[in-house]
Amino acid sequence: MSDQIDTSAPVLVTGASGYIAQQVILLLLDKGYKVRGTIRSLEKGPALKELLASKNPRASEIELFAADLTSDDGWPEAVAGCTYVHHIASPIPPELPKDPNDLIVPARDGALRALKASKTAGVKRVIMTSSVASVAYGYKKLPEIMNEDNWSNPDLLKDNTAYTRSKVIAEKAAWDYINGDGKGLELATINPSAVLGPVLSGDFSASVQLITQLMSGELPATPRIGFQIVDVRDVAAAHVAAMETPEAAGERFITASDYYWFGDIGGVLREEFPAYKKKIPTRKLPSFLLSFLSIFNPVMKQVIPELDKKRFVSNEKAQRVLGVTFRPGRESIIDGATSLIEHKVV
Ligand code: NAP
Repeated sequence: MSDQIDTSAPVLVTGASGYIAQQVILLLLDKGYKVRGTIRSLEKGPALKELLASKNPRASEIELFAADLTSDDGWPEAVAGCTYVHHIASPIPPELPKDPNDLIVPARDGALRALKASKTAGVKRVIMTSSVASVAYGYKKLPEIMNEDNWSNPDLLKDNTAYTRSKVIAEKAAWDYINGDGKGLELATINPSAVLGPVLSGDFSASVQLITQLMSGELPATPRIGFQIVDVRDVAAAHVAAMETPEAAGERFITASDYYWFGDIGGVLREEFPAYKKKIPTRKLPSFLLSFLSIFNPVMKQVIPELDKKRFVSNEKAQRVLGVTFRPGRESIIDGATSLIEHKVV
């Protein structure tokens, strides 16, 4: 059951330039909502609006506000008059920084900035993009299947990266705030697995590199790592459903579909895009070799917690409560690759 939602009050989407945020914005526009967005610099605003307007002409009406996760400036203005806020912005860099706090501090403090400004402005509900990084990491013995009751342990460092730690620390801080000073403000979190699916431009999230790395010929072999894939359009659907569904308040929702080993993503791409066949590696990189090479290579280092592990989460709750139907992983791989070819990325 959906609330009777007043579509005339603006809905704020933070990190409006991002891969997931763009799809959330498009879905909100399609459903008739007025949309606001935050970006770090307003200089990027006209290009962003033009990009989104190529999919929905109403994107030209989006109001953009400058706000950075690391500063208090701009947040009160951005949330003023909004009933709902989708807090999606968080650093997700392709390479991990030397200092984990470069990710943890903006993720955690940025979430608190968005929540505190929302509470002060009388916002009803914030829907925050967390991650399965906040569910499925830091276990001494990995459970066979995990759900929203599971929480990652950011202190078991060998089963985490700075990124996975940043996500669980930020989500925990958000719930602590809601259960303390922020009481009265509603929160729901969306916890996606590895997000794939179409990109709108040549500027996209780090997760899409799962495809670009395979199609660009830069990898001689694939490491034994795997992920549940979720389509960016289904993550957006979950975000909007978590806004419209009264029972979603106070809840976490895992969004995840089929599990793929990295090498098997290559298999799908070889079948569907024969012109790229020669570039897509068929060889497997032995895990012991990768562990050794990672001593010298910081990019490889971030893969180590994933090696030979199958982290598996249930999407049952998002289907049941939010009514989301998840696309098969194969469709997200194919649509992602097709869009990357269209944008001449690969
Ligand atoms: P993305 O395209 O890189 O989007 C990240 C957004 O966060 C961008 O708009 C970026 O702005 C913004 N941002 C980063 N640092 C910021 C700062 N200091 N101040 C203000 N804005 C900042 O990645 P995405 O995949 O859409 O990720 C969106 C959210 O989903 C993140 O919270 C991420 O952790 C979460 N998530 C992603 C995946 C995945 O597989 N992609 C999986 C689970 C969860 P700029 O454009 O200015 O850099």
